[in-house]
Parts: sequence; structure tokens; C-alpha cells
Amino acid sequence: MIKGEKGLIFNIQRYSIHDGPGIRTIVFLQGCPLHCPWCCNPESQGPVTPLTWIKNGQKETITKWYSVSEVMAEVEKDDLFYRNSGGGLTLSGGECLVQADFCANLLHEAHKLGINTAIETTGAVPLREVKKVLPYVDHALFDLKIMNPLRARQVIGEDINTVKTSFETFLHTPTIQVTPRIPLIPGYTTKPKNLEQIADYATSLGLKEVHILPFHQYGSQKYEYLNRHYTMADTPLLTNEEVQNIHDYFESRKIKAIVSGLE
Ligand code: SF4
Repeated sequence: MIKGEKGLIFNIQRYSIHDGPGIRTIVFLQGCPLHCPWCCNPESQGPVTPLTWIKNGQKETITKWYSVSEVMAEVEKDDLFYRNSGGGLTLSGGECLVQADFCANLLHEAHKLGINTAIETTGAVPLREVKKVLPYVDHALFDLKIMNPLRARQVIGEDINTVKTSFETFLHTPTIQVTPRIPLIPGYTTKPKNLEQIADYATSLGLKEVHILPFHQYGSQKYEYLNRHYTMADTPLLTNEEVQNIHDYFESRKIKAIVSGLE
């Protein structure tokens, strides 16, 4: 198989309104180098290899290799919705950029058809992979999580310098609109020191706005299907007051904070 000719995908979701402007089709690509304990798509973690799980006693293959034209055949079904709502195609994961060649081919094809493009990423890939998609991305929804280098490495396996390099590369590409997003994970990203470090980083780059995404438990059942322990099962959701306090903190730092939809 030629590099980038096919991509391994675990879900294609139509009519999403949370992952970029307008009504969108989300393509979830398999593979992620990180291991966030709160991950709502744990099936995507690990290398880009086909995966099965056991659901209701039945073994299910949940990934499938797609060509660009097979994905675009799905995406184009909602072309009218995109045009009426300002929507389009969003690539997600996993970390979609671990399949950067395929992403670039898909996004390029979407652009050729006049379809708006977005990616959801945490940027935990080498810069050369990021560069492959830059010409074809309209929106980058970029997750900032744990800023302390040691904690980021220990808790989620993330090299914060790599993430910053990716983030700043998207930010400094004039054709790309970047939305910094902060998943609010109790005990991890919501620690005051971490929020302060995110605000410091945002300020140092002149950012005026972040989106904050309250923790949810929607992926918990998938851990059972994968026969894995979900360590966040007993973690309570944030109260409205807690979310409001975090919102107010960013606003006090002169950064507009928008409480956003779900990942
Ligand atoms: S980066 Fe996203 S997909 Fe990867 S482990 Fe973290 S939450 Fe899951």
C-alpha cells in the first residue's frame, strides 16, 4: 500500500455540531501516542493497527481501512448541509496526525470539492507530520492539557515541547483559524497551577480566547468492551459553579473563555 493511500478509521459520524463550525461529518482515525486516563475514545489509543473488542458477548471489529474516495463518498452525502450551515469535514481520533499522509490526502480532496476542513488534534507528533496537513486545514481545534513537562510525560505520555511546537505552527499559519481547547479534567487539568500555566502560555502568544470543555463520562462503557479498567469511573462531574470559577479565572486573565460542547 502506498503511504497515505488508505487510512484506518474507527468511526464516521454525520451531523455533528460540536467539532468546528456548522454541521459536520467527523472522521475518527485510529491510533494515538498518548494515554489520557479520561480518554472517551480509548479504542483509538496505541498504534495504527486493526482492533476488535467484545461487546455484549460478541467479538466486533471496530476499525476499517478506507481509501480517500471511500471516505469522501460518505462526506459528500451531506454537502448541502455544509453549504447551508458553514460546516464541512472534521478529522478526529485518536490523534489523527499519526496518519498525517492520509489526512493530507483527505483534506486536500475536500478542499478540491470546496468543502471546509477542520482537525481535532493535540499535536503530539513530529513537526514534519504537522507540516503535511497545513495547506489543507481551515480550522485547528487544538487541545491543551497538562502543561508541567514532567506531569505531562508521566500522566499522558506527552512531550509538552512537541505540543507547543505544533500549536505555534498552526497558530502562525495565516490560513488556519486555531481554537485552543482545554478539557477540564478534575484532578488533572483543573489544578489551579495548571490553569495558571495555560493562561500564562496563552498570554505569551497573545491569545484572546479559549474554549473549555467540562469532563464527561461518555466513553466509560468502551473500557468494558476493551476489558480495561477505567480509572475515572468514580470521578464526579464538575459542578456548574466549578466550571464558572474556571471560566471566571480565564476572564480575569483577560482571556475570553467559552464553555464548549463535548469532545
Ligand atoms: S489524546 Fe485524545 S484520543 Fe489520545 S489518549 Fe488523549 S484523549 Fe484519548
